[in-house]
Amino acid sequence: MGKLDGKVAIITGGARGMGEATSRLFAAQGAKVAIADVLEERGQALAEELGADARYWKLDVTSEDEWAKVVADVEAVWGRVDVLVNNAGVLLFKSILETTKADYERVLGVNLVGEFLGVRSVAPGMIARGRGSIVNISSVDGMKGANSLVAYASSKWGVRGLTKVAAMELGHKGIRVNSVHPGGVDTVMSNHDNRARSDVDKAYGEVPMQRIGGPEEVAAASLFLASDDSSYMNGAELVVDGGMTVGTYYHGFPGAPGV
Ligand code: NAD
Repeated sequence: MGKLDGKVAIITGGARGMGEATSRLFAAQGAKVAIADVLEERGQALAEELGADARYWKLDVTSEDEWAKVVADVEAVWGRVDVLVNNAGVLLFKSILETTKADYERVLGVNLVGEFLGVRSVAPGMIARGRGSIVNISSVDGMKGANSLVAYASSKWGVRGLTKVAAMELGHKGIRVNSVHPGGVDTVMSNHDNRARSDVDKAYGEVPMQRIGGPEEVAAASLFLASDDSSYMNGAELVVDGGMTVGTYYHGFPGAPGV
């Protein structure tokens, strides 16, 4: 038996990286999976590979009209939406002084406004059925400061706030809303030139687990929040970061080697 048998899930950014790993895991766990992404070729190919219970929908998460169409289409094809994983996101490395207003608005548009529109688009159907689970992908950068990530960190802190408000307003209507906070994860976003994981791990020496995470490790956290296994979790922050937010692993002070 799958953890999501009979459930219908929309996964934004579902064609690549963590979203792809989530699409694969949810399909393997019995869900009908709507892969909603701007990457048409990749999304179609993944849907074909996953079989009849997966379909691709073109969705730019910044478009209110596209959200309305995708949710209506998914409801028409599969009857309802039980789960939304708000995963689509973009990264921008720029200092405050380098970041233009357009940069800032673009990143917030995808990462924050996109997730807000997702919540607002699926909520009416979920409220009508009295149940649903929304998983908002934030980041460790939504829990701390990070140099050169002003737009990204602002958006991810925003997602954390959006999650709290949605959990407050929707929880008593049977809809749970939680956020996931990944640390470094081996996808195009964090490993754009596709280096071997063992090489990338070297850059994560200060993380307690001293390695980068895999997209399947974050997908597993989203599965937990999407499924009834987390039936009393609402407004929670699930951190999946190898301990990054716990603190810096020191590789020994002079005269006191690390352990
Ligand atoms: P990725 O770049 O591999 O995937 C991002 C996906 O989002 C792609 O499929 C892309 O096409 C899609 N996307 C981008 N803009 C979109 C839009 N306007 N509409 C619809 N889809 C859009 O990156 P990833 O690492 O898989 O990122 C997934 C999520 O995890 C993002 O929200 C990201 O911020 C977050 N995250 C990533 C890391 C990391 O280290 N990789 C760490 C913390 C959080």
